[in-house]
Amino acid sequence: MSMQTSAVQRSTLGLHTLEQYEALIGAAAAERIAAKADRVRTMRVAHISSTFYGGGVTELLTPLTLMMNATGIETDWHLIQGTPGFFGCTKKLHNTLQGTSSEFSEAEKTIYEQVVFENATRLHLDDCDAVIVHDPQPLPLIRHFSDREMPWLWQCHVDLSSPHAAVWNYLRQFVEQYNAAVFSLPEYGQHLRVGQHFITPAIDPFSAKNREMSDRERREFLGNYKIPTDRPLVTQISRFDRWKDPMGVIEAFRKAREQVDCTLVLVGNNASDDPEGGKILEQIESAADEGIIVLSVDDPTLVNALQRSAAVVLQKSTREGFGLTVTEAMWKGAAVIGGNVGGIRHQIKDGWNGFLVNTPDQAAARIVELLKNPNLRKELGARAKESVRQNFLMSRLLEDWLDLLSKYERPVV
Ligand code: UDP
Repeated sequence: MSMQTSAVQRSTLGLHTLEQYEALIGAAAAERIAAKADRVRTMRVAHISSTFYGGGVTELLTPLTLMMNATGIETDWHLIQGTPGFFGCTKKLHNTLQGTSSEFSEAEKTIYEQVVFENATRLHLDDCDAVIVHDPQPLPLIRHFSDREMPWLWQCHVDLSSPHAAVWNYLRQFVEQYNAAVFSLPEYGQHLRVGQHFITPAIDPFSAKNREMSDRERREFLGNYKIPTDRPLVTQISRFDRWKDPMGVIEAFRKAREQVDCTLVLVGNNASDDPEGGKILEQIESAADEGIIVLSVDDPTLVNALQRSAAVVLQKSTREGFGLTVTEAMWKGAAVIGGNVGGIRHQIKDGWNGFLVNTPDQAAARIVELLKNPNLRKELGARAKESVRQNFLMSRLLEDWLDLLSKYERPVV
């Protein structure tokens, strides 16, 4: 690190330092976190995941790995590579962990384990003091590091409230080889022979997606994408994924539009480890009408502009590990309607800083209520922003990781 970027350059870039967070969390909190970082500064940490692009894990690891480096902890981020067949298998694992009932066949296990073995062959982790593996895709890597001396932690980001039993039993044989598992919420805890920790995700308030934006810039961005602003905007921004319930969103929007005219904007990108997006996008496009704009793009500034411009932000998921899109919209003071599931329930207190819904009908009723009542939108949005400031900024995620890593720090001999 020191060879690549001098301290002076780092402070000129001014990126991902705790000092940046002082104005948001206070000097005392920033100092407390810096002191914890000092205690584990000699550790070298490696994160391993399956994509640099799309989805919540990438959103977390991008700032987290940069912040860890900025605090002096040498932190790497390795990716595993895979064929479309492999990612087809791992998407199935993702779906079954979130409750879909389908078997994971012997042939699928062979593809999954073979590709992970090939990745393990290319991975050299001898210098690390801790290895953190994210989600099911790279999970079996651990089998191939039997002479490891450092702790290995598996962090699972999916909604594990009701995993398919047979698939979870299959994966558990790998999980139990780790020193511990890390879940997003206490309710995702499992019966395991190893320790469990809980770390809730967070957002980077300084990223292109979350930074402050002037009204002019915001309007310009909507204009670039030909998003009309003559009617109030209702939006959902999510990977094109069945668990995000885009068809439920369209149904709710159609019902709401019968009472208040509005435009629905559905924006999605597709993670490179998610092979199902194309099919879901086709389904959405064929259901859309002239009041529904569907954009398949990857543009964080558009996400920012839309979350700031929409009268209502929806995240009508039927399963959701955490739901960073909810956090991002709440941080911008938006009025958010979320599915009453998983991590969304953890963020939205119904009627206090947003609304929770179970059905498209409930979503439609809340859309109408919010569109008719700008003061309610403002009140919910102000409380939403404050709850993100207190609980879901990256500085807190860094602190949680520092606390956890300090438990596994090896004594210097
Ligand atoms: N995202 C994006 N563009 C899109 C859709 C999603 O940048 O078109 C981002 C979104 O802003 C969030 C992340 O992808 O940061 C999704 O994380 P979340 O936890 O909401 O869901 P996941 O995709 O991990 O299931």
